[in-house]
Amino acid sequence: MDLKRDKSRALSKDSLISELGGVGSKRAELYAKIGINTIGNLLEYYPRSYIDCSLPVPIQTAEVNSHCVVKGIVTRKIPAARIRQGLTLYKVIVQDESEAMTVVLYNNQYVFDAFLSGEEYIFYGKMNGGFTRKEMNSPFFIRADEPKKIRPVYRLTEGLTSNMLISNLSVSLGAVESGFFSEPLPEALRSYYKLPTREYAIRNVHFPEDGEASKLALRRLAFDELLILQIGMAMLKNRSRQLTSYQMQSKNKALEKFCSSLPFDLTNAQKQAIAEVSADLQSQEPMNRLLQGDVGSGKTVVAAAAAVMAKENGYQTALMAPTEILARQHDKTLAELLTPFGARVCCVTGAVKGKARLTLNEKIQNGEYDVIVGTHALISGSTEFSNLGLVIMDEQHRFGVNQRAALSEKGGSPHKLVMSATPIPRTLALIIYGDLDLTVLNELPKGRQAIETHAITAKLRDRTYSFIKKQLDAGRQAYIICPVIEENENELTSAKAYIERLKKSALGEYNAGLLHGKMSASEKDRVMNDFKEKKLDLLVATTVVEVGVDVPNATVILIENADRFGLSQLHQLRGRVGRSEHKSYCILIAGSVTESAKERLRIMTQTSDGFKISEYDLKLRGAGDFFGERQHGLPSLKVADIAADRVILAETAQAAKKLIKNSPDLSLYPELKRLAEEMFDKGKAGAD
Ligand code: ADP
Ligand code: MG
Repeated sequence: MDLKRDKSRALSKDSLISELGGVGSKRAELYAKIGINTIGNLLEYYPRSYIDCSLPVPIQTAEVNSHCVVKGIVTRKIPAARIRQGLTLYKVIVQDESEAMTVVLYNNQYVFDAFLSGEEYIFYGKMNGGFTRKEMNSPFFIRADEPKKIRPVYRLTEGLTSNMLISNLSVSLGAVESGFFSEPLPEALRSYYKLPTREYAIRNVHFPEDGEASKLALRRLAFDELLILQIGMAMLKNRSRQLTSYQMQSKNKALEKFCSSLPFDLTNAQKQAIAEVSADLQSQEPMNRLLQGDVGSGKTVVAAAAAVMAKENGYQTALMAPTEILARQHDKTLAELLTPFGARVCCVTGAVKGKARLTLNEKIQNGEYDVIVGTHALISGSTEFSNLGLVIMDEQHRFGVNQRAALSEKGGSPHKLVMSATPIPRTLALIIYGDLDLTVLNELPKGRQAIETHAITAKLRDRTYSFIKKQLDAGRQAYIICPVIEENENELTSAKAYIERLKKSALGEYNAGLLHGKMSASEKDRVMNDFKEKKLDLLVATTVVEVGVDVPNATVILIENADRFGLSQLHQLRGRVGRSEHKSYCILIAGSVTESAKERLRIMTQTSDGFKISEYDLKLRGAGDFFGERQHGLPSLKVADIAADRVILAETAQAAKKLIKNSPDLSLYPELKRLAEEMFDKGKAGAD
């Protein structure tokens, strides 16, 4: 192959991929498709997995229908058989000590010719039953005497083969200038965590000597990614650490009065949380706190207590909710809790329009309201505050890092409290919410009973209705959740059709309301209120009630097509009941379902611990899906998996702390600092 470039000049990180011998404009275009433009991009294009040919099994014991590695001698080559137009079969018989198998090649004379009779090869592929012998179709193979038994597998694009990539990588690795592998980690840190050099990692991630080498390489690369992520988070946290113009006075008397006005005793966890928030508000730096608590743990009163304190100090509080329903509910709850303390509460949502909106905005700007509840229209919209000292965000997992950052930029650095009912493991929370301090409400209010959960098939629906009837007769209320509104060809139960069906069932005589996403805000409002005020016994709803809705008298939730929901969503839905001293029930109806759906339903019936459920969810779905890249606004990771790499996560957390302690502005580690800035810039671009 001709090298186009001047061979005496080494390649740098920024050299264009087309400077590489054998890469013409066609191939460069293919590379561009998978995001590779420079030599740096190429060398950091890591394999998605490996084929390890080092441990072949006898053909006889190789399991049919699974991927296997076998080793054998080519004993016979059966030349082309033209099956039909455009399909030619080549067969190679391979024999080991135990048995023979057929290797089938499609339209690939080139590979067929390359096999030499009497030579030994190692094959990797899916073993099939075959007519007379076991068979492998187009397996991956190497010669048995090939020293490197482990091969990388890359994500490719049509026209770009694994061999092309491997050969380009191999040439690049031979030609890069030494500075390419500059080492961002201090020597001491590397030896403490037993990490190979970055150069070793990049060379061995592509061309590992053996399985150990590839593991070591991956560990190093994942370590770098997570370390840089955490350093980036710490930098973000530092940035929001200006002074606040809203340092508050302790208002213990008012807080005590507020707490004793509640119809219940606070849990210890709630008291602790209120104390932490109160201390934060008195600090010179703005509060940046995440309040995490399982569904029903009582986060709202903590928010209300914070609002009391802000009000007593003469500041406004803004509370943002992810949905209108939730905003209206908070408006109502906070008005009830806070009006006795002289706080004036209002609600700003997309539904307040025109003149009404102008008037409302004017009053907010004049300081005629103390607590302003709303959807995120509050941050993006035209609302100006007179003296905004505290911002509370409910159900935080719907707001990304960047939205949080946008809020900090509101004038004077107001205090910030974010609340989330997605209980994620602490180590993970520290990453995802690394820019925040963490409080966990790890205790449910007294007297709550476990929610009894059953997974059943549609056959038992009528019996379930009779059961719900008993609950309604005892004065309780119930939710029924259906995944979609209109009936479609998938025969999904639609909420509207459902109401009709209910009329003919044992529940026919009760008042049922319908709630779905396509209704106008005021319609939703009316239905929710009717349900709250018990004018409705039953609420048939789509997932709009998923987050936060609080009607303590409801004790049953029936979820149709439960197999369609993810674990965290089911847990959220179930959290609509079990909000009082009455025993509550969750019934999951699912038809014939996949294994993974069965697993989810099983987990739901076995535990109600939100932390456990989110652990499972994380495992079942993987981190990308669980957090939703766009929602958490974190940069995407190439090697590391924040769900799976817990050990590295803990190590890098510790390492990042040490480095920052050593050099708070990171001037001692300029390369790490640069990488962190780069990662977050990319993350930002990706999140918008
Ligand atoms: P979440 O944490 O899910 O947002 P909420 O704040 O909506 O929970 O509270 C759930 C329900 O529990 C509400 O009806 C609330 O009034 C009630 N509640 C909150 N704290 C307590 C407590 N300490 N004792 C009894 N009930 C409580
Ligand atoms: Mg809530």
